[in-house]
Amino acid sequence: MEALITPLSSSPSLSLSSSLKPNSSSFPPLTTHPFIFPKSHKEKPSLSSFRVQNSKFGNFLDLIPENKSTPIKFDLNWLDPSHKPRLDVIIIGTGPAGLCLAERVAQNGIRVCCVDPDPLAMWPNNYGSWVDELSSLNLDSCFDKTWPMASVFINDHKSKYLDRPYGRINRKMLKMKLLDGCVSNGVKFHKAKVWKINHQEFESSIVCDDGNELKASLIVDASGFASSFVEYDKPRNHGYQIAHGILAEVEEHPFDLDKMLLMDWRDSHLGNEPNLRVTNSRFPTFLYAMPFDSNLVFLEETSLVSRPVLSYKEIKLRMAARLRHMGIKVKRVIESEKCLIPMGGPLPVIPQPVMGMGGNAGLAHPSTGYMVARTLALAPILAESIIECLGSTRMIRGQPLYHRVWNGLWPIERRLTREYYRFGMETLLKLDLKGTRSFFDAFFDLNPEYWHGFLSSRLSLMELAMLSLSLFGHSSNSSKFDIVTKCPVPLVKMMGNVVVESI
Ligand SMILES: Cc1cc2nc3c(=O)[nH]c(=O)nc-3n(C[C@H](O)[C@H](O)[C@H](O)COP(=O)(O)OP(=O)(O)OC[C@H]3O[C@@H](n4cnc5c(N)ncnc54)[C@H](O)[C@@H]3O)c2cc1C
Repeated sequence: MEALITPLSSSPSLSLSSSLKPNSSSFPPLTTHPFIFPKSHKEKPSLSSFRVQNSKFGNFLDLIPENKSTPIKFDLNWLDPSHKPRLDVIIIGTGPAGLCLAERVAQNGIRVCCVDPDPLAMWPNNYGSWVDELSSLNLDSCFDKTWPMASVFINDHKSKYLDRPYGRINRKMLKMKLLDGCVSNGVKFHKAKVWKINHQEFESSIVCDDGNELKASLIVDASGFASSFVEYDKPRNHGYQIAHGILAEVEEHPFDLDKMLLMDWRDSHLGNEPNLRVTNSRFPTFLYAMPFDSNLVFLEETSLVSRPVLSYKEIKLRMAARLRHMGIKVKRVIESEKCLIPMGGPLPVIPQPVMGMGGNAGLAHPSTGYMVARTLALAPILAESIIECLGSTRMIRGQPLYHRVWNGLWPIERRLTREYYRFGMETLLKLDLKGTRSFFDAFFDLNPEYWHGFLSSRLSLMELAMLSLSLFGHSSNSSKFDIVTKCPVPLVKMMGNVVVESI
């Protein structure tokens, strides 16, 4: 698929703003009939209640994704379990989190083995990131396409252009780079699924589905959001980001080629879809789009956060209505992805004998779901704590090791700022379409240092407090009303959590 991504095209782009001028006369006004709160978002609207076009290329949902994932060709150092190898660290999972940590930890002679059912499989997800986040890690070569600006459509009449370059990560290149680092630093690989982890005082072991049992001083679980190895002692009340994305060849599209579309909150496409419009006005979704050239585009209809999770079918129906309204005719679906990211919620128990990393260690941004750049940035910090304990000069194992590594990844200051980001998520959960639009209208008017820092999880507590004041100052009266009436409960919860964490 990477071959399909062409460099920034010089062909004239169609302007979104000019080609999609609102035509309010053709759509009924926002419905005023009472909204019935669904018992659960699982309640599915019947397909027959929506008009889904069936003409040629009319409904992309019928198209089968063409790309079959091909494994990466790379010479790995495979572990020979029959030799009962001595290992310092076993890392479960070779996603972005597992590999970037393995590469760093092994730099100092620590014996690391990564275990995954398929270490050479292509990562399935499409990753995007702000360019500065990867540049600061010297990974700017790992984008297959960048856009100098991003755009946000607040509504039919208001859009914003964000002067911050954004890029689509070339996941093959990033994985190869991390694998290369791992191999150079002596990381071993074992192809298996981990079934169980056992702990003794100074050592742990994993039991694999191939019957092998491997021992190490530390087990790091980087097996993603669905992991059951990392333990929690609080209810996992996270929100969910859910999205349906396609990389598609289209007849034409209205997006500027020099901008990626970060969020399109317009709902004029639901003018003739009263049911979808009602649910969208309470649980809004937006379009995220990365135009590669005039015929190739990645499109994703996204629910930023919902609890309980919004129905996937509803997301797809909204997307079909949106593309139809925009005149986007999909000729081929090259790839499709279902994105489901648990966001916010409590951190795992700190410390505990299994070290978490990535999706299962609370690293996804609680308000946005982004995680890759942050994980890459935190890997050296966690690696340093591991090396301090297991390096040749100090053999710290058992409880002191677990204590140091967990507190290395989640020192108190980072835990407190995470509480703030969780508060951000709880606030977003309370906003309907109108509130969400006002929120982002004010948010992207903030001093770029604030909104850049917030989205990249790099603000201190003091900076977050300043951001809140500034956001309140920039908010419309209705938004201020929303904040004053809807935020006190999440605010009190956040303060309570901050106090508990501080103790
Ligand atoms: C569709 C989608 C799109 C996303 N897009 C973005 C984005 O644009 N930007 C961003 O920053 N974040 C994004 N995220 C969020 C997050 O960055 C990704 O989920 C990321 O892949 C998480 O990385 P990870 O290494 O923690 O887990 P994963 O990538 O899920 O990797 C886990 C690995 O562990 C292995 N594994 C699982 N169980 C076992 C076991 N029992 N034994 C051995 N191995 C096991 C799996 O085979 C896999 O290789 C997205 C998430 C999804 C789902």
